[in-house]
Amino acid sequence: MSESDNHHSNDSNENSNETASADSTATEGAPSARTRVRRIAQRASYDHATLHAILDAAYVCHVAFADDHGVHCIPTACWREGDHLYIHGSNGSRMLKLAAEGAQICVTVTHLDGLVLARSAFNHSMNYRSAMIYGAFEVVGEAHKAAALDAFMEHIAPGRVHEARGGNRNELAATTMLRLALDEAVAKVRAHGVSDDEEDLDRPVWAGVLPMALRPLAPERDGDLPPGGEPAYVRDWASRATGAQR
Ligand SMILES: Cc1cc2nc3c(=O)[nH]c(=O)nc-3n(C[C@H](O)[C@H](O)[C@H](O)COP(=O)(O)OP(=O)(O)OC[C@H]3O[C@@H](n4cnc5c(N)ncnc54)[C@H](O)[C@@H]3O)c2cc1C
Repeated sequence: MSESDNHHSNDSNENSNETASADSTATEGAPSARTRVRRIAQRASYDHATLHAILDAAYVCHVAFADDHGVHCIPTACWREGDHLYIHGSNGSRMLKLAAEGAQICVTVTHLDGLVLARSAFNHSMNYRSAMIYGAFEVVGEAHKAAALDAFMEHIAPGRVHEARGGNRNELAATTMLRLALDEAVAKVRAHGVSDDEEDLDRPVWAGVLPMALRPLAPERDGDLPPGGEPAYVRDWASRATGAQR
């Protein structure tokens, strides 16, 4: 059975146990028909706290859009400010040009948290946190561009905005920045163990979750140390890298 088949079939299996009570509650609050999660609706979240946490843990999103050549799905850096998701890039980017013109898009963010190994092939699954946002980007005007880039830098390395050279007029002019309102968004999360069928529970096979995470590794410095030594965000990264290796 293929990976996608496994995941799909696990969903349908759990659905039979969990849907009845969930469908009526979990779908309440869906901002639109296309954001209403139908399969395993109890994994859906329409609250901003869950959505924001998933977006804030991300460095990259995937932007899907269609043009005359077909449907595309492009990875790009992202960050959140308030109730908007931001992306940026060269003025020459096909994706950014289309999005800036108001094309309908769908943005996804996915964090893979673990492989769920069940006692039957059918019930294997994955733990994840994911989000989908529908809508159209709007252009961020010149007045807010520099501040938004500072927010991006802050997302990557808190405090670095006071150290690195800011964008000059030419660099800012060559950059398109877009933002997408989080009005039509939904999160879906699986965060639990194996859901096996009753008759498989006695099978002599290892079952459980193989957790996984995106984690820091040791920093790799380019050039000399600056006069102040390593900045706090690099020390913090290094200690998280050390901690993760223990
Ligand atoms: C982790 C990550 C972060 C990124 N961050 C940014 C960002 O912040 N800003 C930004 O502008 N770009 C970013 N990119 C690059 C981005 O994916 C696109 O390549 C870029 O935006 C150009 O888009 P385009 O539509 O103009 O591409 P075009 O060059 O016009 O695309 C033509 C074709 O090239 C192929 N292609 C394009 N990009 C990719 C890709 N990434 N992987 C595989 N095939 C591809 C596809 O077949 C596509 O249809 C990032 C990529 C990654 C992986």
